[in-house]
Amino acid sequence: MIKHHPDVTMLGKFVEGELPASIAAAIAVHVDMCPKCKAKCEALTEEQAELAFESVGTVATLKTASAKDVSYHEGSDISMVSASEDAMEAMISAITANDEIELAVESREESISVQGTKYKLPRALTNLAMGKWTSIGNLARARLALDEEPIRASLLQIQPGGSVPEHTHKGFELTLLLEGHFKDDMGEYGPGDFIMLDGTKTHSPITEDGCLCYTVANDAQHFTQGLNKLLNPIGSLIY
Ligand SMILES: [Zn+2]
Repeated sequence: MIKHHPDVTMLGKFVEGELPASIAAAIAVHVDMCPKCKAKCEALTEEQAELAFESVGTVATLKTASAKDVSYHEGSDISMVSASEDAMEAMISAITANDEIELAVESREESISVQGTKYKLPRALTNLAMGKWTSIGNLARARLALDEEPIRASLLQIQPGGSVPEHTHKGFELTLLLEGHFKDDMGEYGPGDFIMLDGTKTHSPITEDGCLCYTVANDAQHFTQGLNKLLNPIGSLIY
């Protein structure tokens, strides 16, 4: 069962399309796996639609009262929602077209093989270009091409019995567990768990059965153990 979820502020931004693509992808994967957050997103989308309809209603009233006045508000919300019926129709067909694309992606099975283990990638990640796998010890990483520097997104695999040395984060580190399990000082995690850490947290994840994670970070990890200089290659591997 999923125990760790994105907070409601983040879900709101996700629904509004305000998040960087790398973070939005993590939430999309989580929402597909988590009925609780799916319901929250649906409620947030409905709220937003209601707000949009309210503005359209206001515009309709304004238009009847004084059409010229409204047209002077260029660039404001009012001129944006006072789109003509033609534009509205074009928007609706664009949305329908997107649905078709999404269905096509859904039917595309994509599995990857990492160090001898096969994984099925979730739908939201299958259309991202992936770099080649690099490994150090029990860790293997492949970057995903999202072009959002300094934010970097990767797939990270930890082999059974492997761990990531204790570290903090200068920026943030988002981990979405796709398959397998791991635990750290703060808890135990399973598939679908969404873990967002900032620079105030230290942790050292360890896995018994091995795991595959989707990770997003905006700065190199900072290792807190004694031999941290030797661990730097791991920092750049994970970032
Ligand atoms: Zn959730």
